[in-house]
Formats: sequence, structure tokens, C-alpha cells
Amino acid sequence: MAAAKMKYDLKLTERVRKFALELGSSLFGVADAGILNEALEEGFRPEDSLPGCKAVVVLSLHIPDGALEILRRGKSNYSYNLFGYAYLNRELDFLIYRITCFLEEEGYAAVPLPARGTMYGASKPYFGPLSYRHCAVAAGLAAFGMNGLALTPRYGSRQRFVGIPTTAPLKPAEKFLDQSAVCDGCMECIRNCPAHALTLNPPHICKLGGQIYRYANVDPKACTHMSRGLSTKVWTGAPFNPKIDVPVTENQDKAGHYDDLWNKRDAGIRISEHAEATYGATLCGRCMAFCTAGHDAMNRRMRPCQTAFQDDRVFYPDGSLKVPERIAALRRRQKRPAGHKKNR
Ligand code: SF4
Ligand code: SF4
Repeated sequence: MAAAKMKYDLKLTERVRKFALELGSSLFGVADAGILNEALEEGFRPEDSLPGCKAVVVLSLHIPDGALEILRRGKSNYSYNLFGYAYLNRELDFLIYRITCFLEEEGYAAVPLPARGTMYGASKPYFGPLSYRHCAVAAGLAAFGMNGLALTPRYGSRQRFVGIPTTAPLKPAEKFLDQSAVCDGCMECIRNCPAHALTLNPPHICKLGGQIYRYANVDPKACTHMSRGLSTKVWTGAPFNPKIDVPVTENQDKAGHYDDLWNKRDAGIRISEHAEATYGATLCGRCMAFCTAGHDAMNRRMRPCQTAFQDDRVFYPDGSLKVPERIAALRRRQKRPAGHKKNR
């Protein structure tokens, strides 16, 4: 065991950690590249981006609770659009850039994979070159929730992660979080997906570092349609079923089809938009906003007197605001989360 520990540069690991936190990263962790290489598909492993990769530096930024609580109340997703996604990705790119340069100055290779981006033409077109959710779990920072997001004890569902593959001999996490430590199985995420894009029948099974995680399979096409503000509610005969294809009018070129999509977005789910967000559209985010783990994590951090968001009511499609029965039952069984906690 002692010999195994010697292969890591503990001083460098600590310096990278300190620098990342000084730059503003909400969390910091290191994942063993070998564990990720085993858990991920070929083409999407750290080794595929950086041959000889030893570790992945994992950073995150917290999504402000207000940006998700307002979405939970059905008021607007204008804030989530930008501060939960588009702008946050820019901030994450800044962290990636600075940490990559830091590692290169130390004489190690590192690859600055952007915070957002899919690989067109790859076998999984909706996915980027490296799953940052898996990196977060392998770094011991998070466990998968039923929604498939990486949930942390401090922020629940409310953060975005990035990972920087490097050849630096950084000390990786040895302990991994159990799924039950962060996800109570309430299923609010799945119930609130407007595209019915999440299914547990069958669940996705992920084996990582000796742990087994079970979570919903996502239909990426349905989710992407919904996130663009498209639903077929606006097309006759296809009530709120984004799984069917958006029709292409005869002789319509690509630009015309795009215009068509743009103009026919469903106002009911579009609600608001910010020009800088992807597609300038809604970016759904409900499986994150309605996640009980995120809401409870907020309550643990927030001062008890801050009541603006501290009830469990959520927005229902009929316009009502009420506590879901499942959550009410859960609350009856458990004590309310303890109040404000300052320590990480
Ligand atoms: S982002 Fe929206 S559409 Fe996509 S899985 Fe989550 S709740 Fe469903
Ligand atoms: S909503 Fe409930 S079941 Fe879904 S991930 Fe969050 S805590 Fe788990």
C-alpha cells in the first residue's frame, strides 16, 4: 500500500487543488484514469483523448439555487438558460484553460476539453468525448441519482462538472459515494420530465470502481427536442409527444426547416429564452430543478429564516403550486433537513 502511494505526487496534487479552489471551482477532485477507462466505452475514455493519461482533474461550478427554484415554480427558465448552462460553461472553460496551463507549466500533458460539445459523426452523436458525470463519480465527489445526473452531498443536482485528462501523477480518490447517500429514490425527476425521456424500464447499470449505480436511461433525441423548446403539441394530432420527428415540408432546405422549428416552438415550454443559450431556446433542466436532492441540499446550506424557496411546492401543468404527494409522504417519514450549515 505504501509503495502504491509513492507513485503519486502529493505536493503537486495539493497545489492543483489550492489553485482550482482559488480560481473559484466549487468542488475539486481527482479521478483515476484507469477506473474511467474501464467504466467508459471505447472512444469516450480519458485514454482516447490523451494516450498515457494517468488522472482526470475534476472541477465544478454550483448552479445558483435561485436559477433552478424559479424554474421549479414554473415562472421562467431565463435564469437557468444562462446561469445554469450557457454562461456557466464559459466560466468552466476558464477553469479548464487555467488548470491545463498550470499542468503544462509543470511539464505534464493535459487536454483542455471544452465544457460543452458533442462529437458529430461519433457513434454516440449526443455525447461529448468524456462524460464529466462519470469523472465526478470516479473522483469521489458525487454518485449517480435516478435522473442520471451526478449528485453531490453539498449541492445535490445543482452543479456542472468538467474534467481535464492529464499525465500528471496526481493522487486520485480511493473512496466512492454510494448512490443511497445522495438519492432517496423519490422519482420526482422522472415524473417531471415533460418529454418522458427518462425510463427505468430497464435501468442503466454503471459499474465504476467496484460500485454499482442504477439510473434512468435517457432518450437523447426526445430530451434534445424538449431542450430546444420543441414539442409536437403545436402540431395537430401529436399532443405533447416530442418523440415523433418534426415534419419536414416538401422541398424545404435545411435553413427553411430550421426556421420552421424556430417559429413553431411550443410557447408552453419555451417560457423565456436568452440569446446566448444553446439554440437560443429553453434548455429544459426540469430533471435537475425538480430533484429533491438539490432542493434539500439548498435547505441544508440556507439560513433557516430564508423562506423564499424553502417549501416543497412545485409547479404542476394545470398551473397549481403544491407539494407532490410522494414528497409529502417522504417528509412525514423523515425529519426535515437540518438548517443552515456553513462547512463543506
Ligand atoms: S432535460 Fe428535460 S427533457 Fe431532458 S431528461 Fe431532463 S426533464 Fe427530460
Ligand atoms: S428526484 Fe429523487 S429519485 Fe430523482 S435523482 Fe433526485 S433524489 Fe433521486
